[in-house]
Amino acid sequence: MKAASWEFSAKESAFAAELPVVASPPSISPDPSSWKCSMCELRDNLWLNLSTGVIGCGRKQWDGSGGNSHAMAHFEETGKLYPLCVKLGTITAEGGDVFSYHPSEDDLVSDAERRRRLRAPPHRPGHSASPHPSPRRRCSTPASGST
Ligand SMILES: [Zn+2]
Repeated sequence: MKAASWEFSAKESAFAAELPVVASPPSISPDPSSWKCSMCELRDNLWLNLSTGVIGCGRKQWDGSGGNSHAMAHFEETGKLYPLCVKLGTITAEGGDVFSYHPSEDDLVSDAERRRRLRAPPHRPGHSASPHPSPRRRCSTPASGST
């Protein structure tokens, strides 16, 4: 095992590898119309806490838009132990927008463990969305399996 996972992503969360999980792995309804903040009535800009499975709305923005900061409030109310949330609606088999509320990060992060935690839909072969729009081919890369 190589201990260099940080090489694959610039911003792998420091909390991803050993994130405590207090409940069974979070599972969310496949029906987006049923998603709602657990503390208010907001139904968009929702974040699912990866440890607790609690859904909270996003932070209020500087211009007054956005949510009621309930996802962050949940993080603080639970002792700041569970900093990672994934934005509902962005979850795919390949990834999702994961945010760390921990003061040392306080930003979107990478969570390589997320797929294991979430019951993400199975990978669909042939999908065209790629996080790397123009992969640069290197001579040293073996061209195995490319047809
Ligand atoms: Zn809310």
